Amino acid sequence: MVHDTDGAPVIIGGGLAGLMTALALAPQPVVLVTRAPLGCEASSALAQGGIAASLGADDDASLHLADTLAAGDGICDQNVAAAILAAAPAAIAQLTRLGVTFDRDADGNILLGLEAAHSRRRIVHAGGDATGRGIIRALARKAGETPSITVCEAATARRLIVDDNTVTGVLCQTAQGPLVLATDRVVIATGGVGGLFLHSTNPAGSFGQGIALAAHAGAEMADLEFVQFHPTALDSSSYPQKLISEAVRGEGAILVDEHGDRFMAHEPGAELAPRDVVARAVWRHMAAGHRVFLDARNLGGLDVARRFPTITALCREAGIDPVTQPIPIRPAAHYHMGGIAVDRGGRTSVDGLWACGEVACTGLHGANRLASNSLLEAAVCGGWVAQDMAAMAASRRRQPRTPVSNVASDPAAVRPILSSAAGVLRDRDGLRAAAGALYPLAVAREAASDPATVGLMIVIAALRRNESRGAHARSDFPNHANSARRSTLRLDDALAAARDLVPEPVN
Ligand SMILES: Cc1cc2nc3c(=O)[nH]c(=O)nc-3n(C[C@H](O)[C@H](O)[C@H](O)COP(=O)(O)OP(=O)(O)OC[C@H]3O[C@@H](n4cnc5c(N)ncnc54)[C@H](O)[C@@H]3O)c2cc1C
Repeated sequence: MVHDTDGAPVIIGGGLAGLMTALALAPQPVVLVTRAPLGCEASSALAQGGIAASLGADDDASLHLADTLAAGDGICDQNVAAAILAAAPAAIAQLTRLGVTFDRDADGNILLGLEAAHSRRRIVHAGGDATGRGIIRALARKAGETPSITVCEAATARRLIVDDNTVTGVLCQTAQGPLVLATDRVVIATGGVGGLFLHSTNPAGSFGQGIALAAHAGAEMADLEFVQFHPTALDSSSYPQKLISEAVRGEGAILVDEHGDRFMAHEPGAELAPRDVVARAVWRHMAAGHRVFLDARNLGGLDVARRFPTITALCREAGIDPVTQPIPIRPAAHYHMGGIAVDRGGRTSVDGLWACGEVACTGLHGANRLASNSLLEAAVCGGWVAQDMAAMAASRRRQPRTPVSNVASDPAAVRPILSSAAGVLRDRDGLRAAAGALYPLAVAREAASDPATVGLMIVIAALRRNESRGAHARSDFPNHANSARRSTLRLDDALAAARDLVPEPVN
């Protein structure tokens, strides 16, 4: 079935980035397509820590920028980062106007938390450690009350329809069958790629579907090799893994193994070292055959259950009482710094296609994201995409050609391949083997094809970066290269590179 949106843009994704874009476009009509009911199955709703903004009297955007650039390890886009971080206080005010209730002191001032690698207290939170839930609940309510926003739930975007590098529509899969939305403006806001890995903190549906949509449309990607692994995800059989926030280590919890040995005690910064350093230490200790635990039993009299209600509940659901027992943890894929290459207005290299939120690569995060900068980026850039779109004159709409319908995606076959080759530690042989295994899946027309396409692009980008930088750690290239550079990649290029690696079949 083809449905003409009457010139309304289509936003794919109902997390923070998609909702902010839709609300900022109001009263302009917009169609918001989301796989899950609005606000569900979005990383945004799971965010615990908060949203970074330089609101303190001792803080300003230049200090926030310095911390962001240090975390990004040489490849942030400084101009874009400066602009996004300068917009943070206004974004907090905007979220407040949209109905988000941030935690405040008795005088009504917003409370500011401290997180690793931030030099000032600047983490704005809601409901203690339930920030994402508070934000998404308020924005979903607001979107429901906004007549210009038509929400199309239980619809999965499967392909962009593109004619001469220009968007003409979106093919969606719904319970009633394929649905084509004819439109000349599309925003991809589909979140991250954690679901491509065996262990991840992301909702299972976050497996790079937006990257697959854009890649098949011919769009350019940037910095795809940079995947952040969170060092302390709850090690349980559930998928995704629940996150045990850095704030618990911030309060004094330590990492120990099954013998009670505090294996990070002699590392600089110990448990409060940067996220990638802790993730590598935990990964290596596990690879040496140990189990790893976060011990939060003795936090100087702190009432753990009261300070961390969400985390305590998550642990207890898994049968662990953090007050009396060490918490089993492991690293898990958490955040994708790379994604669809966009300019400051969120424009991609395809006409009529924008991207924002985690799926986009603005250059803010470089090789490693500073904690709590991602909700900020989604909120700020969602608004900027709306402005950029609104400023663009309507183009002559073209009829979308009938697309080829597509099988539903399933990343299960890709997870073991990507996890062993493109996890916390990588090397050439492992990455080459993964490219060889992913290529046939990517070019077949089957459930694993789109996830394998995204996995293959990550692997090719990782193979090309012969250095260790930020979250990208190569055991065969442990140091920085002499010059810091960002990377770009298109699907054609990745497929050609993979073909060269795959041995010809022997007759
Ligand atoms: C456990 C956890 C804790 C975090 N804590 C923090 C934190 O404290 N601070 C911080 O700044 N960041 C945090 N992050 C990161 C941050 O939450 C995300 O980067 C950010 O919320 C991404 O927002 P988004 O709107 O881009 O994507 P999401 O919020 O993931 O939304 C994506 C949306 O797209 C939909 N979708 C996906 N594919 C399709 C498709 N094909 N068709 C239709 N719909 C589709 C999904 O259903 C979802 O609605 C955390 C992440 C996790 C997983």
